[in-house]
Amino acid sequence: MTVYDPDNIFAKILRGDLPSHKVYEDDHVVAFMDVMPQGTGHTLVVPKAPSRNLLDADPATFGPLFAVTQKIASAVKKAFAADGVAIMQFNEPASGQTVYHLHVHVIPRFDGVPLRPHTGDMEKPEVLAANAARIKAALEG
Ligand code: AMP
Repeated sequence: MTVYDPDNIFAKILRGDLPSHKVYEDDHVVAFMDVMPQGTGHTLVVPKAPSRNLLDADPATFGPLFAVTQKIASAVKKAFAADGVAIMQFNEPASGQTVYHLHVHVIPRFDGVPLRPHTGDMEKPEVLAANAARIKAALEG
């Protein structure tokens, strides 16, 4: 099945039917903490326009999406004093996609620290909240 499912988890978060630790929102894009982070500060950047992934997205989605991805990448680098930032994006199960609403992973990287597994352990809500607060502060500063 390669159609868009309006009941996917991120669609529910966008509608406010499920909670998230949001760090940024504008007319086109939302960013919130990944609940199973591959590294400290792992954030997801999600366009509001529905598409299953990059393959079926309206190209008009990409400008706002990547402008916000850049903003979040700079903010997480500053917030966690990261050495680098990985940007990842998966399309279809064979690539590792598990949630079928287009999104970009923004993951702070630290020299010598390996990534944790994709969709591994759930992070504690209080840790996600504290990390979200640090990112929001970096976005404001
Ligand atoms: P992907 O495998 O690229 O589709 O990534 C989906 C990401 O969403 C994974 O990194 C999951 O840890 C993350 N995730 C799943 N459910 C939630 C949720 N309710 N809130 C935030 N992140 C989630």
